[in-house]
Amino acid sequence: MTEFETVIGLEVHVELGTQTKIFCGCAVEFGAPPNTHVCPVCLGSPGALPVLNEEALKLAIRAALALNCTVRQESKFDRKNYFYPDSPKAYQISQYDEPVGEHGFIEITVQGEKKRIGITRVHLEEDAGKLTHSPYGDASLVDLNRVGIPLIEIVSEPDLRTAEEARLYLEELKSIMQYCAISECKMEEGSLRCDANISLREVGQRELGTKTEIKNMNSFRNVQRGLEYEEQRQKKMLLKNEKIVQQTMRFHEESGATVAMRSKEDAHDYRYFPEPDLPRISLSREYSEERRAEIPELPAERRQRFVEVYGLPLYDAEVLTVTKALADYFDGTASRVRDPKSASNWIMGDLLAHVKANGLEMEQVRVKPEQLAELIGVIEKGTISSKIAKNVLKEMLDSGKDAKVIIEEQGLIQISDEGQLREIALRIIATNKKSVEDFKAGKEKALGALVGQMMKETKGKANPQLVNQIMLALISD
Ligand SMILES: [Zn+2]
Repeated sequence: MTEFETVIGLEVHVELGTQTKIFCGCAVEFGAPPNTHVCPVCLGSPGALPVLNEEALKLAIRAALALNCTVRQESKFDRKNYFYPDSPKAYQISQYDEPVGEHGFIEITVQGEKKRIGITRVHLEEDAGKLTHSPYGDASLVDLNRVGIPLIEIVSEPDLRTAEEARLYLEELKSIMQYCAISECKMEEGSLRCDANISLREVGQRELGTKTEIKNMNSFRNVQRGLEYEEQRQKKMLLKNEKIVQQTMRFHEESGATVAMRSKEDAHDYRYFPEPDLPRISLSREYSEERRAEIPELPAERRQRFVEVYGLPLYDAEVLTVTKALADYFDGTASRVRDPKSASNWIMGDLLAHVKANGLEMEQVRVKPEQLAELIGVIEKGTISSKIAKNVLKEMLDSGKDAKVIIEEQGLIQISDEGQLREIALRIIATNKKSVEDFKAGKEKALGALVGQMMKETKGKANPQLVNQIMLALISD
């Protein structure tokens, strides 16, 4: 049977986190009442002239550099002409043949192997308006607040071979954008959007097969689902010797299927020409280097440091570096404790569970890294048991109080006084003769029951190792 290879390329639009739009002074605000952040420039009134927002340019350059692109010293804007109700100007200001950045890459890890995915280009452009179609099919509403919000489009090389690789690439891309404070990348608010191109070719064949483009995938999971569906659809057609039609497909979330939307436009359909109302962009080397200096330690470097410096397993390092805020939190905690792995365990366990259950951002967590480090310190010293520490952390997360204050207030200090524990142990032995006999008869489990009684008696405050030792010594006689 014919073997096929899948070829996927992604086009990602990322909204830049500027205060105002790209060519006018209108505010950028998600969720504002429709058509309230508009002016003659972004509405495309005759005679209105665009002026480039420098912050958008800075963010685009920073993004291009973070994606290992070469930043062009010379670039320009072009008009992409199309008629659609989401664009009152009937064109979009974009970049055609001279984008801000080109020839970059993102590294992903696929089943333990590093793989480089090329980035063709990063270009600046303005967003279009948002259309809402009536479910009854009788009307469409347009909100032009989004017109003119600065975007970068990041186009990958056709280097991705599976839907899973596409998801990994998107996750890494999103992390990089967030680390560099370029965008919040909220797919649910549309500040990160992804279109995917996919084609199949016979294994060994050099030229690409006919591709389709999938739109309307609103989560990384759906990108993966959409691509998997389309891969199978194309494969079935090719096996039946049917021709793939180059077209745009819409992903249907409920069914997980892709549905043909329209035939795909080619670049010449847009009649690109240089934007006459904006000057060319000329960048000095220093200007780009200043942007490079704004880039923090990126997720891949941080993962490596967490493994090498803190000795974390790769899995922990991956979880803890997904967002910069979480990675900062771990750094802040781990650098203050003896065993960084215990910091990782507390953060990945109880802390993230709390964050998830309450729908919080890391910045909203009431326990600061130094407070968590203090709690881990008192466990390491044996002042409280880890079991009690779980409750203390819960209380800390609710109240924001320090561990030491809660331990003091509730008298939670671990009992490590041998004399005191021995006394309690003798009392328990006296009232649990059956367990003692069981133990002597070889049922080792009986020891656990006696230790359990001790912990119950001391409300979990007894030092468990010590209790074990004392009890074993007493009943082994
Ligand atoms: Zn405006």
